Amino acid sequence: DGLVSAYVNEEDRDAEASVRPKRLADFIAQDRVRDQLDLLLKGAMRRGSPPDHILLSGPPGLGKTSLANIVAAELGSGIRVTSGPAIERSGDLAAILTSLAEGDVLFIDEIHRIARPAEELLYSAMEDFRVDVVVGKGPGATAIPLDVEPFTLVGATTRSGLLTGPMRDRFGFVAHLDFYSPQDLEALLHRSARILGVPITDDGAAEIAGRSRGTPRIANRLLRRVRDFAEVRADGVVTRETARAALTVYDVDALGLDRLDRAVLTALVDSFRGGPVGLSTLAVAVGEQPDTVEEVCEPFLVRAGLLARTPRGRVATEAAWRHLGRTPPNGTFG
Ligand code: ADP
Repeated sequence: DGLVSAYVNEEDRDAEASVRPKRLADFIAQDRVRDQLDLLLKGAMRRGSPPDHILLSGPPGLGKTSLANIVAAELGSGIRVTSGPAIERSGDLAAILTSLAEGDVLFIDEIHRIARPAEELLYSAMEDFRVDVVVGKGPGATAIPLDVEPFTLVGATTRSGLLTGPMRDRFGFVAHLDFYSPQDLEALLHRSARILGVPITDDGAAEIAGRSRGTPRIANRLLRRVRDFAEVRADGVVTRETARAALTVYDVDALGLDRLDRAVLTALVDSFRGGPVGLSTLAVAVGEQPDTVEEVCEPFLVRAGLLARTPRGRVATEAAWRHLGRTPPNGTFG
């Protein structure tokens, strides 16, 4: 399933292309980031020079790749796209850098995963627009300095804490993307539905927004599934009722929890009286690996205020009991 995973899957790749915002004005919400970027880009264009290098950080699915493309579109520049893990040798990066045209945007996704030698090469490219390419090996090796056309690096990271200090310091503009409010996601869903030609009511959009975990990628994915349902089992209009019925079929509940999320909470509440219980015991109870429970389920359960990690183990919050339709016991919280 993975319907409420924020990570991109194969189906998303094609489907996202049509609804991806192309210009800053199409980018929903994140007003502060949008405003700051607008100034940065307009200032640079006025001066006729590339803007500072841009670092975008934040969880997956919140619009970093979209913004990188928007930066290039607003500047009227070309864009080259690569990612930290794809740059295995510094020679790979040197080849990309020296082939950039003046003013191009270089987008490096997951930049915290770039290999160290390539990272060092990137420093001089970012700072002085030149790179030293080492030719040969051992004592006979020579460094050949090559010019790089002035360019703008846009780096994206889901783990800004893993970036090295020198790397971070070389970005003149750093923006952090936060989870979207349900209202923002409603606006986003109305926009996507318009582009896809799907009729949607306000409460239909609200119903999907509430289950999208604050994440545009998930909102768009749920919209596609609800559209299927509306077209096959109803009259094609996405209403509150069709959204509810469709997402019941797909096992996505009112808070955006999927089957495994609910299994974790149910085990915690029913088998362990709300905890505290150790991670591995909890994982065995739901038939999953501890890593899966910890990395796939828990981040959102914690963010949604349903589960707490305490020194003595995992605890279901009062909200979790209520969400499962159970009466919380007295005095076990806090
Ligand atoms: P990231 O690179 O952070 O994982 P993406 O830029 O790929 O995220 O965004 C995922 C999808 O969500 C995009 O295809 C886009 O359609 C949509 N999206 C993200 N942010 C916005 C936004 N602010 N406005 C409209 N659509 C958005």
